[in-house]
Amino acid sequence: MQHSGAPAKPPLQADKPARSAPQRAMEKLGLRRDIDLALHLPIRYEDETRITPIADSPDGEAVQVEGVVSECRIEQRGRRQLLVRLADDSDSLLLRFLNFYPGHQKTLAVGQRVRVRGEARSGFFGREMVHPHFKAVDAGTPLATALTPVYPTSAQLPQAYLRKAVTAALARAPLDELLPPGTVPAGLPTLREALRHLHQPGPAVPLATLEDRSHPAWQRLKFEELLAQQLSQLTAQRERQRLRAPRLQAVPGGLRDQLLAALPFRLTAAQQRVGDEIAADLGRAAETGAADGATPMHRLLQGDVGSGKTVVAALAAAVAIDSGWQCALMAPTELLAEQHFRKLVQWLEPLLAARGQSIAWLTGSRKGKGRAAMVAKVASGEAALVVGTHAVIQDDVHFARLGLAVIDEQHRFGVAQRLALRNKLAGQDSPVPMEPHLLMMTATPIPRTLAMSYYADLDVSTIDELPPGRTPVLTKVFADERRPQVIATIADEVARGRQVYWVCPLIAESEHIDLQNATETHAQLSAALPGQMVGLLHGRMPAAEKSAVMSLFAGGQMAVLVATTVIEVGVDVPNASLMVIEHAERFGLSQLHQLRGRVGRGAVASVCVLLYQGPLSPTGKDRLRAMADTNDGFEIARRDLEIRGPGEFMGARQSGDALLRFADLAEDAPLLQQARDLAPRLLQQHPAAARAQVARWLDSRADYLKA
Ligand code: ADP
Ligand code: MG
Repeated sequence: MQHSGAPAKPPLQADKPARSAPQRAMEKLGLRRDIDLALHLPIRYEDETRITPIADSPDGEAVQVEGVVSECRIEQRGRRQLLVRLADDSDSLLLRFLNFYPGHQKTLAVGQRVRVRGEARSGFFGREMVHPHFKAVDAGTPLATALTPVYPTSAQLPQAYLRKAVTAALARAPLDELLPPGTVPAGLPTLREALRHLHQPGPAVPLATLEDRSHPAWQRLKFEELLAQQLSQLTAQRERQRLRAPRLQAVPGGLRDQLLAALPFRLTAAQQRVGDEIAADLGRAAETGAADGATPMHRLLQGDVGSGKTVVAALAAAVAIDSGWQCALMAPTELLAEQHFRKLVQWLEPLLAARGQSIAWLTGSRKGKGRAAMVAKVASGEAALVVGTHAVIQDDVHFARLGLAVIDEQHRFGVAQRLALRNKLAGQDSPVPMEPHLLMMTATPIPRTLAMSYYADLDVSTIDELPPGRTPVLTKVFADERRPQVIATIADEVARGRQVYWVCPLIAESEHIDLQNATETHAQLSAALPGQMVGLLHGRMPAAEKSAVMSLFAGGQMAVLVATTVIEVGVDVPNASLMVIEHAERFGLSQLHQLRGRVGRGAVASVCVLLYQGPLSPTGKDRLRAMADTNDGFEIARRDLEIRGPGEFMGARQSGDALLRFADLAEDAPLLQQARDLAPRLLQQHPAAARAQVARWLDSRADYLKA
């Protein structure tokens, strides 16, 4: 965790060491400061501002009625229950309680006047309310003047206690207008008014506008939040422009040229273009400031699965090495790191060896002397290229001259890890803070609204074309009953010398069931394919065993590979022509797309079979349909966003910390645009207001938005 130096938040009552259970429960919900409580908004409202005549209470809608009890008895109708008849001038109504206490009978005794809140329905015994809220009143007891808020809470925190706490905090919270006149979109209330309104809406407010968040009070809140986010991104960008990275340029006839000459293929036009964009970033002299060097690159390289991002990363690495700097390449899993390593070794090792340099390999499973030797090579600078997993950013790894950091599948890394990598260049002898250039790679393209918000501080390069000679993968969706037919197809493919992946789902809650599933499928396929090698690969195997299985498959000796999702990324076997995904309904859309990308890597026509176990949920159906409809990663990402919403789409990023609480990117694009327009102007003309706005909203989260 990389927290800013913000002071610790004072507990609600610092002078009282023993806090009550509700206070502790409140802290657990993150409700520490007045502003936290002020921003803790109701999930819904109850209308106690009016009384509806019983005869007019609509079916199935929450209403409040008032009347006098005319009957109160306990009955045994299958189950003991309390039945109470309540009458007003218009009609009468049966109140039914399946759980009740002596207090119920006392308050609801015949002749008592009560106010009752619940949903009236036409039941078996006429109109009735089951388990309504009730309270004894006198004739003429005043009604509530505002809608009653209902807050999200927990078992230890009573609603009434929380309501009081929110009301008190709302009065105390520093909610003064921070934004200068003329900057807030017309028609929106101040933040204080907006929050007042949302916590205590008057009786005339249509509930629908509060609940669908279209009310101006909601708009103001969302605008505030979006503005803070835009300001923080912009600030991060400007701060980075003040930092320096080494200026990296390829040397004519140097490593980059040698690598290009040695590649067994020609770059696609798209690879060429993004390669140039990256080289331009690395080599561009900083325009401002006294210090030499370049502005650190902060670029996302997006390209569909199989589009050839690795070679682009290798070329960037070669530029860094040409200039006498090191490059680190970090991948989320050991298997993926190893795939990179193999390829990079194959491409770069001979060239580096001729220059007296080497490649270091750092993963979690490499320990002891082997690791120490690698760490020493990194520290001395002999290792020009460092490839690995999270092990690359451990504290004991010191780079001699880290010029470029490449992160593959960047969405699988936390922000703290990205920050750690960028901090690996600290301590260089330079008049301004230095950090390495950063290249992030992803196969999951970022939809536009997300690019405008979370990634506003990022340059994006896109590989929009696949290497030539690929045949599109044909996707078929089958119910699990057709498994025998699928196995027959596997036998055919294998007989023709092709190879097959069979992927079993990863069940987060139970690694055990997961394994059992894969093991059973493995046994079934082994029996069905006599004389063929069928392998098994899963997350709990030791790394050495995993790579042994992988090399048998990559070498072509193994015909079928049954795997849990460990093969999700990075496996590259062009002869594999069939991918079967079992329980496809349990996978996310982008994961399915990634998996499918493991086939169709050669010239052979490939097929992906999605086996599902019905019944499918509506979103499950949508996902499988999207897969059958398109091979285009961008279209898949768009549909994924549609199906899941941005919150979940971003799920892997910073574990929800930086997610928007109030605004919804899908719905609030116009507000986002307004916030984007205002942010630079505010920063320029009212820097103090801009800082206060970010502090109010983002607090220690600002750091996270920077990475
Ligand atoms: P991804 O973008 O999914 O990481 P890779 O970098 O693994 O894709 O590349 C997929 C495969 O395509 C690899 O076998 C790679 O060597 C090959 N490849 C990359 N670029 C080209 C090209 N221009 N022409 C032919 N094959 C290429
Ligand atoms: Mg890749």
